[in-house]
Amino acid sequence: PAPVLTVDGPGGSGKGTVCRLVQARTGWHLLDSGAIYRALAVAADRRGLSVAEEAELVDLAHDLALEFRPDEGGEPRVLLAGDDITSALRAEQTGNLASQLAVVPAVRQALLARQRAFRAPPGLIADGRDMGTVVFPDATVKVFLTATVEERARRRHKQLKEQGVGGNLADLLKEISERDQRDRSRSVAPLIPAEDAVVLDTTGASIETVVDRVMRLLTQ
Ligand code: C5P
Repeated sequence: PAPVLTVDGPGGSGKGTVCRLVQARTGWHLLDSGAIYRALAVAADRRGLSVAEEAELVDLAHDLALEFRPDEGGEPRVLLAGDDITSALRAEQTGNLASQLAVVPAVRQALLARQRAFRAPPGLIADGRDMGTVVFPDATVKVFLTATVEERARRRHKQLKEQGVGGNLADLLKEISERDQRDRSRSVAPLIPAEDAVVLDTTGASIETVVDRVMRLLTQ
């Protein structure tokens, strides 16, 4: 099977940026698993499904007509049944609903095959929470990124501002802490580093330093 680099960690730990830069250097495929959970949240919201409607959510997870396709500028776009949902995916509210759906074991199970299908030559960079523990336990290199909750809230705040979305830092800090708590304490695939993961704290580290470190792990 093709090699896999798993990059797990909480929101705002720098996973997305690190994965995109490693992708530029390696030419490997990229799995943004958070986008799949977020797309499921968008689809569930459109159908008016609640977190309690487990069977319907599982059906929806299996049938989700998702497409990842870069636009002319090379920016990644996500299509749900042909409809561009890229900006809806980024909304804080979508992330929150995604993390509530992600607690349901049957939903996680329903998304497994879809995620594993991204593995193909020359290799895969898998960004998420449980890439190294559940989805690709046999990955070639496993990285777990961390950063203090204050630093992650600051990064998210800056990111949202760049996207022209408002948001107050104190509210973000609270939301991120709640999401962390939910991701860590769920019974299935809790957010913890795989035993064989290299844990990198990105607080105060430049993105280049982190990417160099990951590249060294990949080529050593
Ligand atoms: O990484 P992102 O913020 O896009 O993920 C949204 C939510 O989806 C996370 O808070 C988490 O609860 C869930 N998720 C997950 N497992 C993954 C990726 C995301 O549970 N592999």
